[in-house]
Amino acid sequence: MDYVIQNREPKDALRYFEELSAIPRGSRNEKAAAEYLMAFAKEHGLWCHMDELYNVYIKKPGTPGCENLPPVLMQGHTDIVCEKNQDTVHDFEKDGLKLYVEGNMLKAKGTTLGADDAVAVTYMMSFLARNDFPHPPLECVFTTQEEIGLNGAYIIDPDLIKARRMLNIDSGPEGVLVVGAAGGQNIVITKEVTREPVQGITLGLHIRGLFGGHSGRMIDKERGNANKLMARLLHYGAKVADLRLVSISGGDKANAIPRECDAVIALPAGQKDALVKVLREQEAMIQDELAFSDAGFVLNLEENAPATMGMITKECGDQLVQMMFLAPCGVVAKSMALKDLTVCSLNMGVSRTSEEAVVITYSVRSSQDSLLELTRERLICLADTFGAKADPKDAYPSWKYKPDSPLRHFCEKVYKEHTGEDLKVEAVHGGLECGVFLSKMPDMDIVALGVNNYNAHTPQETMDLDSYGRVYTYIEALLRKMAEGE
Ligand SMILES: [Zn+2]
Repeated sequence: MDYVIQNREPKDALRYFEELSAIPRGSRNEKAAAEYLMAFAKEHGLWCHMDELYNVYIKKPGTPGCENLPPVLMQGHTDIVCEKNQDTVHDFEKDGLKLYVEGNMLKAKGTTLGADDAVAVTYMMSFLARNDFPHPPLECVFTTQEEIGLNGAYIIDPDLIKARRMLNIDSGPEGVLVVGAAGGQNIVITKEVTREPVQGITLGLHIRGLFGGHSGRMIDKERGNANKLMARLLHYGAKVADLRLVSISGGDKANAIPRECDAVIALPAGQKDALVKVLREQEAMIQDELAFSDAGFVLNLEENAPATMGMITKECGDQLVQMMFLAPCGVVAKSMALKDLTVCSLNMGVSRTSEEAVVITYSVRSSQDSLLELTRERLICLADTFGAKADPKDAYPSWKYKPDSPLRHFCEKVYKEHTGEDLKVEAVHGGLECGVFLSKMPDMDIVALGVNNYNAHTPQETMDLDSYGRVYTYIEALLRKMAEGE
């Protein structure tokens, strides 16, 4: 193949990067990438195993003299998020990514680059292939379907893993060691509704202009939540008008802060001016509150908005609006042990309306299991109070910060020796596969790290090639030190 990355180190890892990028590997489509890894292992005479979700395990003995040292587990995921620009012609099922280099940056033409998590895959391949430096026994696990719910990690067989220290290479930026992550759960609240024919006039309320963002990383940034803001507008509106809800719909995913929300209401024609006045007052207040954190908020009003369903009966609609107005959303608790870390939060991610019900989907996260349980209980209690039903779904385990992690101290020490600088130690409020590994192997000592990779999960994804080279040599330094028995 024609390689586009020239004259850069580590050459072999970057060649693997380009080979891997030529293989389509969106989540649930990892088979070809897994087979590529299996062929690689066999070619190098390494033990390997592939399971039914195409997770791949490859093991390599320690180099001579290091065969009996404790093994180390390295781990990352093969799948990528498939996002492309509107005008890009690309079939993620069939086409390889078209990589190019701009300055120090590696990108893909019009699509995600998949450095999340090609970095891990290609580092591991390189360390498995190299025989020119001493290292302990290596156990490498390449997981699948990480981006759609950590599915591969859930079926990892702990019996195939001997190591009790683990480097997850799916984090970053460079210079940061991640030592904890939130667990979480989606909670789906369903409020069944009854309807009657629309009377009076209709009005559409459209919230636009908000930033949104990842509900783990951005939840403490005081960004507006379009679903919550809509509930506020409806609540205040109901004080001056006999407004009746027809539909509400906001957000796309439970784990993204909703940027937009649309509602259609019906009301007596004579109350419109009073209602619009209140809505505009609220809009101005919200703009003022969000002036520094989410300045683009606007409320667009649409007269005679089409109502595709009847209006929700008064009692039902009032209960729904009050429930959404009172519902908790945002940061619940911050850490006193790790600066700026959110310990517990929830995001009212999605609202949807059908003929029979309004459904609200929350993403709740916490690194403290008891707070997750408390928040879940609050939502169940809230739903109960307003004649709705809350169903907890899709839980994933937390990776709780361990104050006494030998692997963390080791990584800090080697980083200082290797770069002269201090490694930053952080916990994150997003979910990571590490929590799943820990739930299967509670005595595993885990750290996570990665390279400078920007705008992951978007077509603007960009990886810093210099950072890729530096982090590679740092991990090599860790393995060399482990080979000395540390
Ligand atoms: Zn990732």
